[in-house]
Amino acid sequence: MSQTTNMTGGCYCGALRYAVTQPPVTGGQCHCRACQYFSGGNVNFYMLIPSDSFAYTAGTPASYTRPDKENAVTRDFCATCGTHVTTRRPGLKQLVLKIGTLDDPALFPGPQMAIFTEEGQPFHIIPDGVPAFETLPPMRR
Ligand SMILES: [Zn+2]
Ligand SMILES: [Zn+2]
Repeated sequence: MSQTTNMTGGCYCGALRYAVTQPPVTGGQCHCRACQYFSGGNVNFYMLIPSDSFAYTAGTPASYTRPDKENAVTRDFCATCGTHVTTRRPGLKQLVLKIGTLDDPALFPGPQMAIFTEEGQPFHIIPDGVPAFETLPPMRR
């Protein structure tokens, strides 16, 4: 995925803008129940990017961490338009960036894995040949 360097993006209303200066580590699709809320019911497409390669160039995100879950992720979103931009997972060095917020989402070469399929829906589609994991892949647990 080395072609996807110096990516830019932001939220739907434009209050949040960001830049990414290093290539993503990997990318995939998440089937978890939480992602279904944010995506409209489908999977969420994401890239894992080195945390220090990501910076907001305009605006400051609001964030939310569920208080009732152990090791809950923190989701950053635009407080004005509600666009979900990133997720930070405790213990994960990389940042989870939502493909739909890229200025050019077509930079995403497609998912390299499907995760949290145990929470998926019957109408979710996993492309042929894409490895699927019931939760996180072993190296990320
Ligand atoms: Zn916005
Ligand atoms: Zn998810």
